[in-house]
Amino acid sequence: MVGRRAVVTGASSGIGAATVRLLRKNGWDVVGVARREDRLIALAEETGTEIFVADVTKQSDVDALRDFLSGLGPIHALVNNAGGAYGLASVEESDAEDWVRMYDVNVVGTKRVTSALLPLLRAGIEPGSTASIVMITSIAGHVLYEGGGGYNAAKFAEHALTGVLRLELAGEPIRVIEIAPGMVKTEEFSLVRFGGDQAKADAVYDNVPDPLYADDIAEAIVHAMELPPFVDLDLVTIKPVAQAAPHKVMRGTLQPKS
Ligand code: NDP
Repeated sequence: MVGRRAVVTGASSGIGAATVRLLRKNGWDVVGVARREDRLIALAEETGTEIFVADVTKQSDVDALRDFLSGLGPIHALVNNAGGAYGLASVEESDAEDWVRMYDVNVVGTKRVTSALLPLLRAGIEPGSTASIVMITSIAGHVLYEGGGGYNAAKFAEHALTGVLRLELAGEPIRVIEIAPGMVKTEEFSLVRFGGDQAKADAVYDNVPDPLYADDIAEAIVHAMELPPFVDLDLVTIKPVAQAAPHKVMRGTLQPKS
């Protein structure tokens, strides 16, 4: 059954915004969460989503989100998507503050939101239904690459949090789904990673034949949320065909060997 209420964090751009659009198209009530109100307002005007401005790294914001949602009623799905990478420097050279920020948003932010909203998810469970918690981790949470240190560490930790949560919720009708994307050409992910350097951000995708786009990941997220209630799409790894591993991206035209 669709047409229920989902909360999507990181809804102001990229994968989160695409997920809100698809959920709305499929009849879900949605609450999109992020820090930038202007972008959320534009998304609300476009899709009819509810919005809430919150920084998932701030407990007071997450508490306010929970209170706002309590006023709306139960929720049936949570998409923990807010996150990102800051920097691509080596372990030796990278800025420790970037590591703290990455851990804060990808791991502790996900924990804060999940802890706060679990009671509302439980309240939405009816006989025969299953609540969904979707974690957007990354292939960086599974495979190491040079320069990935802080982001790898954060996404490995988010993957660990996801696995532990699934163990702890066993016995309840709540499925914990991990979506681990590879290279997705979103407007802001690399721009944020490189501190606003558009040339460096563009170079990531330069001449990559058909990288993934936010809509491709949204399709997987929503598919997992709309499967029959007894099915848990436990871990989904999605990469463009041109990417064999985080550090092995093919550029130019893909061709069969002659
Ligand atoms: P974007 O940079 O486009 O989107 C990130 C979203 O997270 C924005 O909406 C941003 O909104 C929000 N956000 C960031 N920090 C916070 C915060 N403290 N509190 C609340 N919201 C926050 O990236 P993508 O859409 O590409 O990435 C989405 C997720 O997918 C991330 O977790 C990322 O790590 C992961 N991912 C991305 C890949 C890629 O190649 N693009 C690959 C693998 C995983 P605002 O700034 O308004 O708060």
